[in-house]
Amino acid sequence: KGGKALKQFAVIGLGRFGTSVARTLSRMGHQVIAIDSDEAKVEALMDEVTTAVQADARDEEALKAAGIRNVDVAIVAIGENVEANILVTLIVKELGIKCVVAKAINDQHGKVLAKIGADRIVYPERDMGVRVAHTLASGNVLEH
Ligand code: ATP
Repeated sequence: KGGKALKQFAVIGLGRFGTSVARTLSRMGHQVIAIDSDEAKVEALMDEVTTAVQADARDEEALKAAGIRNVDVAIVAIGENVEANILVTLIVKELGIKCVVAKAINDQHGKVLAKIGADRIVYPERDMGVRVAHTLASGNVLEH
């Protein structure tokens, strides 16, 4: 059917954004390791992903134990805690993961992530705002 090859992903941080990314990849048939320090977040997603792990992602050994080194892509979806977001991005990059996608909350944060080797930086709120604006302007909206 011309579909893309299945891959292994790790999603670190299961807030609204991370949960949505993990769930969507999983529904597409990809292998997903989901990691969060909050047991409740892990349990909520447990049945929908390949592996769900409760761990502080700043703990390199815990990431290794979760199998992070086997993934093709790691998504760092920790939000509010910028320090943890940056540290975890650095750790996964140092563990040799080829493609690291990190969520940034603003431009300065994004610049730091780029400097430490994030391969792709996403700004979920901003990106969604742009998408919604384009959709609205294109007229592909049901008019009442
Ligand atoms: P969203 O907008 O996607 O809901 P957010 O911007 O509010 O997310 P946070 O709630 O700060 O982001 O973080 C998302 C998730 O990351 C939370 O579920 C939180 O438990 C988890 N998280 C934060 N720090 C760590 C850490 N060191 N290790 C693992 N998970 C973490």
